[in-house]
Amino acid sequence: MTSDIDWRELDLEHRSSWRRIFNEDWKNDSPEAACPICSHHTLHRWYKQESVQAKVLRGQSFIGHGRLWEWCSKCHAYEYYPDGFVPAWWKEPYPVDPALLKYDPGPIDAARAKAAERRSTNAGDIPN
Ligand SMILES: [Zn+2]
Repeated sequence: MTSDIDWRELDLEHRSSWRRIFNEDWKNDSPEAACPICSHHTLHRWYKQESVQAKVLRGQSFIGHGRLWEWCSKCHAYEYYPDGFVPAWWKEPYPVDPALLKYDPGPIDAARAKAAERRSTNAGDIPN
């Protein structure tokens, strides 16, 4: 799969509204609020745990060091945090090959889209 997507880092203008959305809905791999830039409900986050170290910060439990990506799969704005803590609630909602990880969330969003496609195919197979 080639990736021609032009990912761009979050601009200063939208930083505070972006932060507010991700902070308020912080236990969700896909925050429900609309993207402050393009107004689509296409915001996502993904953590890559790098070390195991239980920790409580400001009353929240964390499981170790890691990296965090936040992005909009519609307008391709993103934020990358190379050195943070992974919250205890985090569980990878879909696998991403660690060898593919880079600064922008391109490989992660590709994995997310593939998983979503698979889910909707499976849902179609199973009547409920
Ligand atoms: Zn957007």
